[in-house]
Amino acid sequence: TERPRPLVAGNWKMNGLQASLTVAEAVRDGLDAGLAERIDVLVCPPATLVGATAAALKGSPVKVGGQDVHAEASGAYTGNVSAEMLADAGATATIVGHSERRAYHRESDADIRAKALAARRAGLVAIICVGETREEREAGRTLDVVRGQLAGSLPDGAKAADTVIAYEPVWAIGTGLTPTVDDVAQVHALIRRELESRLGAEGAKVRILYGGSVKPSNAAELMGVANVDGALVGGASLKAEDFLGIAAAY
Ligand code: PEP
Repeated sequence: TERPRPLVAGNWKMNGLQASLTVAEAVRDGLDAGLAERIDVLVCPPATLVGATAAALKGSPVKVGGQDVHAEASGAYTGNVSAEMLADAGATATIVGHSERRAYHRESDADIRAKALAARRAGLVAIICVGETREEREAGRTLDVVRGQLAGSLPDGAKAADTVIAYEPVWAIGTGLTPTVDDVAQVHALIRRELESRLGAEGAKVRILYGGSVKPSNAAELMGVANVDGALVGGASLKAEDFLGIAAAY
């Protein structure tokens, strides 16, 4: 089967002021035209910058995403942002279920599933994050944990055009630690099997990203693993040079 088109996505987390628009512009200006024909590139700034970033990148191959959405389209949910609002501001995608949301906001698989459905409703691609903690890995539970998260958070009827899975081992996020290529291959193969059993042929087309301490120096090795269809990048996405260096692995 044909390999899905790679996606390299940057998660800025709670970083970025208006001045950080220059980072997004530098990604746009530094992205090789030939590379942009082969891969998708997405930046996910904080919600306050989604509109301005989308305006600045309008007409460029670099797309803009959110980092989270509320499941409802609108209403009395003080402080929240809906998928419709992100789409209205120019986003084409959103991360859902990042481990920091799961941990600090107690988001459950059911919550994340509802958010992924909200993204679909608004025409956004949902990047659904899964991944085990250090304790879970040490207990030998990685595959069970990831299987369970996927079963609970992937909506029925997901399509490659509206859904991306990001495998992000929690212990690898922001730590400089990465799993071995064999470990990455094992988890991505499990995710692929689960996608195909749930979604049939469509499951072969859904992109599966690896995330957790990806940097220019390890990107080629990680992106070369079977069923790794791109990267979700945190820290290294805050510097255009590093983010582009990762994209250049393709
Ligand atoms: C992330 O939080 O999505 C992430 C992958 O972070 P980092 O690249 O900094 O490990």
